[in-house]
Amino acid sequence: MDISGFLEKISRIDGYDVAKIKKAYEYAEQMHEGQVRKSGEPYIIHPIAVAEIVVELQLDTASVCAAFLHDTIEDCSEKTSLAVLRKEFGQEIADIVDGLTKLVHIPFETKEDESIENLRKMFLAMSKDIRVIFIKLADRLHNMRTLEYRSEQKQRSIALETMHVYAPLAHRLGMQRIKNEFENLALKYLDPIGYEEVVLDTERRYGEQADFLKAAQERICRLLDEYNIKYTIDGRVKSIYSIYRKMYNQNKSFDEIYDFYAIRVIVDTELACYASLGAIHEGFNSIPGRFKDYISTPKPNMYRSLHTTVIGRDGVPFEVQIRTKEMHLIAEYGVAAHWKYKSGEQGNDSLDKKLQWVRTLLETEKDPDDPEEFLRPLKIDLFDDETFVFTPKGDVVSLPNGSNCIDFAYAIHSAVGNKMVGAKVNGNIVPIDYVLQTGQIVEVLTSASSKGPSRDWLKLVRSSEARNKIRQFFKKEMRAENIIIGKYEIERELKRYGRHFTEAQKNEIVKNISQRLSLPSADDLYNNIGYGGMSVSKMAAKLKDEFDRVVSPNTVEEPKVEKKYERRTDDINQSVIVDSVSGCQVKFAKCCNPLPGDSIIGFITRGFGVSIHKYDCPNATKGLKNPSEKDRWVVASWTRKALDKAINVDFEATLNIHVDFTPTVLADITVALSEMKIRVTSIIMKEQTDGEAIMLTTVRCNGIEQLKMIINNLKRLKSIKEVKRGYV
Ligand code: MN
Repeated sequence: MDISGFLEKISRIDGYDVAKIKKAYEYAEQMHEGQVRKSGEPYIIHPIAVAEIVVELQLDTASVCAAFLHDTIEDCSEKTSLAVLRKEFGQEIADIVDGLTKLVHIPFETKEDESIENLRKMFLAMSKDIRVIFIKLADRLHNMRTLEYRSEQKQRSIALETMHVYAPLAHRLGMQRIKNEFENLALKYLDPIGYEEVVLDTERRYGEQADFLKAAQERICRLLDEYNIKYTIDGRVKSIYSIYRKMYNQNKSFDEIYDFYAIRVIVDTELACYASLGAIHEGFNSIPGRFKDYISTPKPNMYRSLHTTVIGRDGVPFEVQIRTKEMHLIAEYGVAAHWKYKSGEQGNDSLDKKLQWVRTLLETEKDPDDPEEFLRPLKIDLFDDETFVFTPKGDVVSLPNGSNCIDFAYAIHSAVGNKMVGAKVNGNIVPIDYVLQTGQIVEVLTSASSKGPSRDWLKLVRSSEARNKIRQFFKKEMRAENIIIGKYEIERELKRYGRHFTEAQKNEIVKNISQRLSLPSADDLYNNIGYGGMSVSKMAAKLKDEFDRVVSPNTVEEPKVEKKYERRTDDINQSVIVDSVSGCQVKFAKCCNPLPGDSIIGFITRGFGVSIHKYDCPNATKGLKNPSEKDRWVVASWTRKALDKAINVDFEATLNIHVDFTPTVLADITVALSEMKIRVTSIIMKEQTDGEAIMLTTVRCNGIEQLKMIINNLKRLKSIKEVKRGYV
């Protein structure tokens, strides 16, 4: 159809803004000027064809405009941009075109089965607006119809992609007509010989039974007329692909195919459907077990109809489908038809709801009545809980929502996770616990010299897969270290019971517990605890039980040595992850007082663990430049626990407060801080020559957010000129 015919046609349909659509067409024509399709025809015939399909799907004006414009950003980037489209056609249309352009970059072609599943989900996740999916399907349909002009290799890969991604999508969305065409066209390129065979067999059989359909239809008409039912009727041979599938998947010969013919009766009301069924069953013998009432129990994709198979002339069975006009529209166009029905004004704000609804639809199990279902189920079970990201090579990795770079690394391979030292997202370095978003490209930085994951990663990861792999690592590679940690944790638990015990008693308790848990030795128990495979808290009841048996209840109380101090150190060590060294002893440098949320770096002291500095601390900057010190500076980051303030550590921060040296300034500041319930641990005041002073004030605070609040409040004081983080 040429464009004037097209515009003429839509002008006869209610609700289309013909002027706007014409403008979109003219714009697209101008953009694609000079470009040709592989067929040699001008490029513009493609957008026109896509727009025609979109009109056939009865989508709205914005969709038709977007159909015309769908390839402009991708193919004419030197002439136009999203910003221009937005200006010319408005936000709504620009957004749809943007969605379509993004889909172009998803590498759908020829992947293994598992990733095909992910790709389908990705497709949906990327299509924020259901109209994007509809137009994309229309685009693919025209490309399939003109596939003959592409190279043989392209034909195969595009046909495969259509079969694996687009046809199941169309099916799930109930767009039967498009699904059938996708399958038939794809089959033609995927198995040309098989396709040809079915076509020839079909023609032969149809020829042999030349007037079978006609006769069957006439008989049905007579039956319906007797009952005064108003109807339209049409008969057809079933789709090439559905016959092919039955032959090859169920290993049937062509002549064994049951439901070769189908007759469709369309009536006015639901009641008329049942009446027609009764009339037809009266006139024909029906095959038991083949009657299906999809009106009272619609298919998950909203399909509604009555199905029955009856015996026609010469004992040849055929299927009859009975439905109303509305059911028919939904049977052919699925969600697209429904979308139109329900959308009414087609207001933008309800689009989200509609997409949500489509997702629900896509979540449904595949039709249990259709055991021949060959398509892999397009089950989006965890759709809302999954994040899809790319490897640098373009493979899609699916992760639970909230997953970070560590989860990603372990999803690739244990070896990648175990050697991970950093990560990049869309080319930028990010912390390894950076939470990933759908569509990002993630690259894991590894180092052969990495000693393996940190134990804290167990608390950071979101996916059970990553957690198990990290545990596996500790189980295998760190037995000696695990045993030490396990011993420590058991001892700590035993000490809580408050009675003194000897080393021998402890060994006896542990030996008994190991036996009760069917472990070969005490070391295996320690090892299990050490790598996180067993938790002390879960075996606490057993421990207490053994403890009471082995250690006499009259034993004197275990003296509590600086319990509070021990706990604090413990918590401090849990607040920072240092490089890949696990169970690390850390302390916070007094020169810069790092707070959770600050970028930090560690310095390996001699004998005092790792000293944590702010990344921009002058001591760190200087130290990193010093060749003899350089190797002792290590990567450090806050644990999730520290960032969530779920930790019992009093962090400190030093403020450099520049003030007018008035008699009340010190009081002003301390009052302000006490009103904020902030504890001051030290104030050093240095008078300057010009009637001003610098006050180095150290306060307790739980993170950079709280510190910001303190700084903002202090800045409101009249005598304060400037407040900054300070260095002692
Ligand atoms: Mn296109």
